[in-house]
Amino acid sequence: MKITKVSKTFGNHQVLKNISLDFPAGKTTVLVGPSGSGKSTILRSLDLLERPESGNFDLDELHIDFSQKIKDADILTVRKKTGMVFQSYNLFPHFTVLQNVTEGPVQVLGKKKADAEAEAKQLLAKVGLADKADFYPETLSGGQAQRVAIARSLAMHPEYILLDEPTSALDPELEMEVLKVLLELAKEKQSLVIVTHNLAFARRVADKIVFVENGEILYDGDAGKFFAQDNDNQRIRDFLNSMS
Ligand code: ADP
Ligand code: MG
Repeated sequence: MKITKVSKTFGNHQVLKNISLDFPAGKTTVLVGPSGSGKSTILRSLDLLERPESGNFDLDELHIDFSQKIKDADILTVRKKTGMVFQSYNLFPHFTVLQNVTEGPVQVLGKKKADAEAEAKQLLAKVGLADKADFYPETLSGGQAQRVAIARSLAMHPEYILLDEPTSALDPELEMEVLKVLLELAKEKQSLVIVTHNLAFARRVADKIVFVENGEILYDGDAGKFFAQDNDNQRIRDFLNSMS
């Protein structure tokens, strides 16, 4: 998946300035940078929740020119191939955990209920929540709710899972439960794009780091070099110092 020469303006504020980025399949790309730099706007552009006014988007054989009207069929294709996990989980409150995970596969993918439930149970076991299938979201901790949201996303078999600060609402112990699941997915070569402020986690999970500042890409590459003490970009050194 890649975006090329993408610009996005809100009012008269250009928040993405002609940026190009590649998100390699089977890899974990981590976006870091100060608040307000444009990370969420990039992520939301990848599943078309935001529409940049110019630039291109490529995913497999699908090509979208943001300066043209996007076809409904293309929007559906993108939504099928990407799954978004939000900071605030966005679980359906009136559904059990199991129903939260089976809803999409049954309603959108047309899966048989029994098959969807069997897979949902496997996925809940994978995220360590086999015993919570019949619980309602309000009875879960934040870390458990976020793991349900990840299982729900996996149930749709997206090519890419996009996660926008998935642990920033969580206390450190609960955050760890979620990060362990993401590390496991990364190990299994699930394609991931993660926005996070947790640099220790970013360093561990990332195949590739993207540093965004003020709507521009200041770094795009190897995680090791990004975190190296002798990184020759003063802006990045300042950012790393401000976060540690
Ligand atoms: P980040 O995720 O890095 O904190 P965002 O992508 O959320 O940054 O925001 C980038 C900039 O765009 C910020 O200045 C933000 O205020 C602005 N912005 C984001 N969404 C909107 C919107 N819907 N309307 C107006 N401005 C927005
Ligand atoms: Mg954000």
